[in-house]
Amino acid sequence: MANRTGVVVDERYLRHGEGHFHPESPRRLEALYAMLQQPDMEGKYVAIAPRHATHDELGLVHAPSYIGLVAGTAGKRYYSLDADTQTSPESYDTAKLAVGGVLNAVDAAMTGRADNAFAFVRPPGHHAGRNRGAGFCLFNNVAVGARYALGKYGLKRILIADWDLHHGDGTQEIFYRDKKVLYFSTHQYPAYPGSGTFTETGQGDGAGYTVNVPLKARTDDALHVKAFRGILQPVALKFQPELVLLSAGFDSHFQDPLGDMRVTPKGYVFMTRILMDIAAACCGGRLVAVLEGGYNVEALTESVRLVLKEMRGDTRATEDDLYRMEYEAEQGKDQILRRVAEQIDPFWQVF
Ligand SMILES: [Zn+2]
Repeated sequence: MANRTGVVVDERYLRHGEGHFHPESPRRLEALYAMLQQPDMEGKYVAIAPRHATHDELGLVHAPSYIGLVAGTAGKRYYSLDADTQTSPESYDTAKLAVGGVLNAVDAAMTGRADNAFAFVRPPGHHAGRNRGAGFCLFNNVAVGARYALGKYGLKRILIADWDLHHGDGTQEIFYRDKKVLYFSTHQYPAYPGSGTFTETGQGDGAGYTVNVPLKARTDDALHVKAFRGILQPVALKFQPELVLLSAGFDSHFQDPLGDMRVTPKGYVFMTRILMDIAAACCGGRLVAVLEGGYNVEALTESVRLVLKEMRGDTRATEDDLYRMEYEAEQGKDQILRRVAEQIDPFWQVF
């Protein structure tokens, strides 16, 4: 039987950055929304309407002074939060709606209105820290979603997986000393923002609850899948998350203009299946994906289309598919996975 897969879709997400020349453009969501209306997709997904996150909800993650700074950009034609991150008159409103879209997706998954969900929101979030916007991100959508779920549903353990090309430095910073949220990231390294080496594993109460897999440029599907199966899956099965969140960026696609990785749509599908297997084993399948990067619009659209089919259960990557993909990882190139496994061995014993 098909899963009820929720999708957060709203034309108001196109209002941020209108008229600016920027790779994180409204065109990305326009194309995804058009894809969702094609005959093979239309009517198959549960629509989740977003809402605006409140100041208190943003304050679960962000400092009041930073929320005030972003609020102050409302109505202004242009404000630059950092070299890559600018606002337009409706950016503050859109950013609150992006967070609120994730919160409603979390509610849908937690209450059973949807089995899993994908929030197609912008601006993206994983570079936004407590006190700063950065890297196209205003508020950290997935981080507020995690804190909100911990509070509202009394959860004690949430997994945030992040397969975006870039390290989610904002998400890492927010949860670095927090053992309730396990942050796992694969990313191109070295690359923007520069963080995310394998020795960054959390501090204090959060020691061991950050797991970074820095991958060389041109890493392919096989090594990504091997990282998800060889590192994330055993760690997650020990951690036993009560909710799985995914920072789903598609800029590690081989055609992406900002990245230099070699992931294909099939790679994203296989990583999705591994996350679904983790969620099925630990928390009734509750998985909420949140859009991050991905700047080749056609590559983004095709990847998301196939990921959604997997989430709904229209396709199903088998254990055999995953094993064969992982086995293709070239000998020697997986050295980094051994380094990561050694680094986290005191906490997770994945060998
Ligand atoms: Zn990215």
